[in-house]
Amino acid sequence: MGMIVQGATGDWEVVIGLEVHAQVSSKAKLFSGSATEYGAEQNTQVSFVDAAMPGMLPVINEMAVEQAVRTGLGLKAQINKFSVFDRKNYFYADLPQGYQISQYLQPIVGEGKMLIDLKDGSTKEIGITRLHLEQDAGKSIHDQHPTNTLVDLNRSGVALMEIVSEPDIRSPEEAAAYVKKLRSILRYLGTCDGNMEEGSMRADVNVSVRKPGDPFGTRCEMKNINSLRFIQQAIVYEANRQVDILEAGGTIDQETRLYDSVKGETRSMRSKEEAHDYRYFPDPDLLPLEFDDAFVEKIKSQLPELPDDKKARFIEELGLTAYDAGVLVAEKEVADYFEAVAEGRDAKLSANWVIGELFGNLNRTGKSLSESPVSADALGKLIDLIKDGTISNRIAKEVFEEMFDSGKAAADIVEEKGLKQVSDTGAIEAAIDEVIAANPDKLEEYRGGKDKLLGFFMGQVMKATGGKANPGVVNKILKPKLDG
Ligand code: ADP
Ligand code: MG
Repeated sequence: MGMIVQGATGDWEVVIGLEVHAQVSSKAKLFSGSATEYGAEQNTQVSFVDAAMPGMLPVINEMAVEQAVRTGLGLKAQINKFSVFDRKNYFYADLPQGYQISQYLQPIVGEGKMLIDLKDGSTKEIGITRLHLEQDAGKSIHDQHPTNTLVDLNRSGVALMEIVSEPDIRSPEEAAAYVKKLRSILRYLGTCDGNMEEGSMRADVNVSVRKPGDPFGTRCEMKNINSLRFIQQAIVYEANRQVDILEAGGTIDQETRLYDSVKGETRSMRSKEEAHDYRYFPDPDLLPLEFDDAFVEKIKSQLPELPDDKKARFIEELGLTAYDAGVLVAEKEVADYFEAVAEGRDAKLSANWVIGELFGNLNRTGKSLSESPVSADALGKLIDLIKDGTISNRIAKEVFEEMFDSGKAAADIVEEKGLKQVSDTGAIEAAIDEVIAANPDKLEEYRGGKDKLLGFFMGQVMKATGGKANPGVVNKILKPKLDG
């Protein structure tokens, strides 16, 4: 199901590899104790190390190392107990050191793999090439002074994990599925908050095209894209641009391009820099990073259940459909909510309520799950009322909507509005007799063979009882009476 671009000379296949920068969830930076909180006033979270004052020495943050190992384990990757920090040298106004401390030949995490979930319910394995730790740069601000560029160093030195995929991705949809799944795993692990709008996750998108069966073509890299939509748009634009060039007999220059989301196009920033342009060398201020098996084992023993395992368990142990299980595990927050509702209750019914009514009402009101006025506990209690026959499923939907709008408890709404289901056969029988007496013509038609009028009578009885009659009881009494 790869993306195909049709050209005059035939079909072109699109090949994609992603390099995702994920900010490590950690209170301190990679080599300094400065805070990392988002949204702080400019240049208030900058130590002498982050500002690259002469003579300052970096000190590795053990928490960041743990987070990288945890992420590596979540990506089923090789953990390298020996890795090296290198200086990647380049000049930029927001990089006071004149180099970025990164990892090059010996990263902390090696090859791994991840399953992505596709729209048709299938999965595809994408290879992970490596994960390394590196520092973020500061930020140049071009729009606050008429003639000068300002620099904010709050982000300077913040720990990033660069997670590199193999060129296994074949379409914009697969690229989006990759980023979504990666974000989900990082959130389950608690190693990155995954907030793309805040820049906690950004992707460099590498795209090339080739005739099916040919070796890979020359790629272009689009830097720093921070939304799923823009990643997909950039791929479509870039693939078409490359096909046009190749079809016209041209060649692709390997280059770094910028995706302009306003114009919806990519344009050249610079020709591709090679590793040797950066003059990588091991940072003499830092020893190689070494840890033992016990360090890794301890982290492994604390890993949470990850989305693929959770999904399998929901299907096998709770009897959910693959689709429902997939929807429920995609976001950790949703999975937690569902598990709290389903605890000690009918799992399928709980899943239906979360996916149907809860999501429906969140959608209706434009709220996120964390803003839901109905807690998992409150929804669970509503489900209990259905299960014990206090209210019908239909009434429960009304009650839920009211819970959602007022924040009241299910039992209170049922009590106040007198919504208790009527299972008392005497009351129901009386209502049935009234309905039959009021519709002699319909009764005649029914008895003349028009079976589907049963539904009409059913509806009339429900109406007469304000929807509160227990449908099972109505059915049992109504039919024999109609049949005479
Ligand atoms: P570099 O070190 O120059 O950045 P890498 O080999 O590390 O290059 O690859 C960077 C990214 O580019 C990886 O995600 C990889 O999957 C992707 N990539 C490599 N070759 C291609 C290609 N021909 N087409 C698309 N993506 C590619
Ligand atoms: Mg790279």
